[in-house]
Amino acid sequence: QQSNSNLDTARQYVNEVYETVKKRNPGETEFHQAVKEILDSLVPVFAKHSKYQDHAILERIVEPERLITFRIPWVDDNGKVQVNRGFRVQFNSAIGPYKGGIRFHPSVNASIIKFLGFEQIFKNSLTGLPIGGGKGGSDFDPKGKSDNEIMRFTQSFMTELSRYVGPDTDVPAGDIGVGAREIGYMFGQYKRLVGGNEAGVLTGKGLLYGGSLGRTEATGYGLVYFTREMLKTKGERLEGKTVIVSGSGNVSIYAIEKAQQFGAKVVACSDSNGYIYDENGIDLATVKRIKEVERKRIKEYVNDHPTAIYVEGCENIWSIPCDIALPCATQNEINEESAKLLVANGVKYVAEGANMPSTLEAIEVYLNNGVYFGPAKAANAGGVAVSALEMAQNSARLAWSFEKVDKKLKDIMKNIYKNSVNAAEEYGYSGNLLVGSNIAGFLKVADTMIVHGV
Ligand code: GLU
Repeated sequence: QQSNSNLDTARQYVNEVYETVKKRNPGETEFHQAVKEILDSLVPVFAKHSKYQDHAILERIVEPERLITFRIPWVDDNGKVQVNRGFRVQFNSAIGPYKGGIRFHPSVNASIIKFLGFEQIFKNSLTGLPIGGGKGGSDFDPKGKSDNEIMRFTQSFMTELSRYVGPDTDVPAGDIGVGAREIGYMFGQYKRLVGGNEAGVLTGKGLLYGGSLGRTEATGYGLVYFTREMLKTKGERLEGKTVIVSGSGNVSIYAIEKAQQFGAKVVACSDSNGYIYDENGIDLATVKRIKEVERKRIKEYVNDHPTAIYVEGCENIWSIPCDIALPCATQNEINEESAKLLVANGVKYVAEGANMPSTLEAIEVYLNNGVYFGPAKAANAGGVAVSALEMAQNSARLAWSFEKVDKKLKDIMKNIYKNSVNAAEEYGYSGNLLVGSNIAGFLKVADTMIVHGV
């Protein structure tokens, strides 16, 4: 047990670093939020060891190694020139090449990219694989764009990004708004510009040209494998549980698929306009067709399933009674009020498929009400973990079977869970996966930074 005075001193130190972050990154509220969440969890580490403070690890880790901002000019279908802004943050390369997705969404700005990149450092460390933290994206809105527009924009994006990435330096992948189609266009453009065939420069590639079996499913499946570990700890099973999954993109779809395979009843999912509720359990084939083939809105679901209901306003999904909530849409989708609604309606588990879907206030509500909480960095790390396995296959010029990848994914998720539980226990926060995962992710990166010198 740590003395209270050590904890107080550590808390004061962490607050000072946090104030500097706020001052140095004015107005970047999402980035501040991600930093605050992690820094607060690390207080017991600084109370116990002085070496991290001696080496100014915290002051260094909150500052990206590099933030690249660039212009993306492209021509729309009407022949009009459009300009968007692109970003790549190369946050931390202590334990491996920068690794993290690309997000295309109108909300993208430096704050969003930095919060995502910062989280990625700790998430990637937790996977146990040698990958550093990075993230990128653009404020480009893919909604309503033709396939040709998507191609021209994505090519222009990669024309600039190609200067900064490479299989041993920085390896992007998908995120919101970037899937197999966009990765294909990015890879094609990179190959045109750089030559050769550096398969490992991107992950989430198609199976025709170096992609890994199981990568598409990895984030959603991994989330459910992690959730299963959480339930096991409490002596429970997924079978028969009522689950709500927000979102209806890649993460949500494969979370629903795996939860259903384990016998859970998934009754709702959503998009940014609203949610669908199907008391018979969501018919995933319909969701896949609407979202992946037709690229339409989720409200179309009720045309095929007239007994299901569609409700306008995606945030209303949190008022549905459930045992398990899996937020898989976007950052800050659950605020304090929604968290209270979930608790009032009996939620027992929240595991995050999206990045930072719960506000700091929502997390407080879970922790104060006995909800077992699986934070994003741990629970959604399956996607990036299988990306690292894709890199390994590309380096070895091999393609593993789905079963092999899936088995590795399961083991990785179990290990992340175990390491988070153990770190929480060791630092006096037994049962707190938020503190445990932040500490476990931090220690590997921090110790490496010390070894590498300043
Ligand atoms: N965008 C995903 C994430 O948030 C995956 C990143 C990757 O595969 O590199 O972790």
